[in-house]
Amino acid sequence: MKKIGIVLFTSDLRLHDNTTLARAIKENDEVIPLFCWDEEYMKSEQFGFERMGNIRRGFLQKALADLHQNLKSIGGYLLVRKGNQLEIIEELLTHYSVFKVYTKKQVGIEEKRGNERLKKILLSKGVDYEEYSTSTMYHPSDLPFSMSSIPEVFTKFRKIVEKEATVRNPLDCPLSISCPLILTDLQGLNVLNNQFVLDKRNVLPSLGGETAALEHLNSYIFEQKHILHYKETRNELIGIDFSSKLSHWLALGCISPKFIYHEVKRFEDAVASNDSTYWLIFELLWRDFFRFSFKKHPLEYFQLHGILGKSDRQPTRNKKVIDSWVNGETPSSFVNAAMKELKATGWTSNRMRQIVASYFIYDLEQDWRVGAAYFESQLIDYDVSSNWGNWAYIAGVGNDPRAGRKFNTEKQEEQYDKERKYQSTWL
Ligand SMILES: Cc1cc2nc3c(=O)[nH]c(=O)nc-3n(C[C@H](O)[C@H](O)[C@H](O)COP(=O)(O)OP(=O)(O)OC[C@H]3O[C@@H](n4cnc5c(N)ncnc54)[C@H](O)[C@@H]3O)c2cc1C
Repeated sequence: MKKIGIVLFTSDLRLHDNTTLARAIKENDEVIPLFCWDEEYMKSEQFGFERMGNIRRGFLQKALADLHQNLKSIGGYLLVRKGNQLEIIEELLTHYSVFKVYTKKQVGIEEKRGNERLKKILLSKGVDYEEYSTSTMYHPSDLPFSMSSIPEVFTKFRKIVEKEATVRNPLDCPLSISCPLILTDLQGLNVLNNQFVLDKRNVLPSLGGETAALEHLNSYIFEQKHILHYKETRNELIGIDFSSKLSHWLALGCISPKFIYHEVKRFEDAVASNDSTYWLIFELLWRDFFRFSFKKHPLEYFQLHGILGKSDRQPTRNKKVIDSWVNGETPSSFVNAAMKELKATGWTSNRMRQIVASYFIYDLEQDWRVGAAYFESQLIDYDVSSNWGNWAYIAGVGNDPRAGRKFNTEKQEEQYDKERKYQSTWL
């Protein structure tokens, strides 16, 4: 009898450096590459906002189509099914004698619970189950501390990790895959049923999946060499090249952070190394830091008082005020420009994210979690730990030793948009 494995893809939509996929191919005669789209969950609201807005849906659809093409090029396909992942897998088990289900480890609390339920059911049916860490630059088991003793402050974390840990080499793309033929189901790729047109002013290089991500990385680092100026330009507001624009691909796992790390190292060896080349890795380490901190505090990041468990502030939730921020109709035209950019494209720069979050928390005096929930719905690069971790940080209930970051909006405008170019682009 053929040994069959299921690879349950979630936010790891790539062939390169994907341990989950590589293990499934190695251990089975045939593999079913599966993605489940749970419409009801994605449509459900938190603080009045749908979990996944139209822009991210559109991007997800393109990333899935690309994954399907890439799997096809090595002899397979991607099966996309609509519904609850547990029910879909249970249904597959009735048709196929599945040996094991392979998936990535989750960091969000609800996704983690989903995996726990799946594991329990599978084991009760005699089907094996295994999860792999595929989202971070440093593998969790290579860290010089346990998850429960991750330092609360980034600088401490960074210094220890940089000194004592190494980034593993990324895995190559698998050369071939064998999938049960009967399951080929291209219709499934349209389950997201999304038609959206991205605003022409958007600064993202492409919304394709893994293929576009790898092309862009090569262009940003090796062809255009923009990485050599990254540290000086990363706080700018307009254009494609001032920052790497990798976040949306990282969020859906279309590109591996380990792969990026080793490409930067290759560039440093072959071409040049400076503060900027280091700084890109430094920022990726922030991403790792938030992910590992989430493992330590899985619930606290969603609570008003965050990981500190206390706060002096008593925020309100005023619908009119919240709507004015969401729609870019606040008294600050600088903030409004970013909120309009976010609404039209699903993206705004790190600097503007900090400014609008600070404005929401300290000037409008609203509950930071409402702002984080709007970002979750709207951001094309939404990532649970980077989003909620950054919001908690700015609100002073996260990993900030300075107990919060209030930005002076006028001063920021003076420094970053003196000529009002950014505002005239978006207002
Ligand atoms: C309130 C707020 C919410 C945010 N929400 C998200 C989110 O949901 N998803 C997300 O990917 N980033 C989030 N960020 C972090 C950051 O703004 C974006 O990663 C960055 O702007 C994406 O653009 P880039 O890829 O060109 O970044 P670059 O400047 O080129 O950085 C390279 C990569 O490093 C990582 N990175 C950079 N800055 C941070 C940071 N502060 N925290 C964590 N990782 C970082 C990202 O993966 C990024 O792609 C948030 C920041 C703030 C202040």
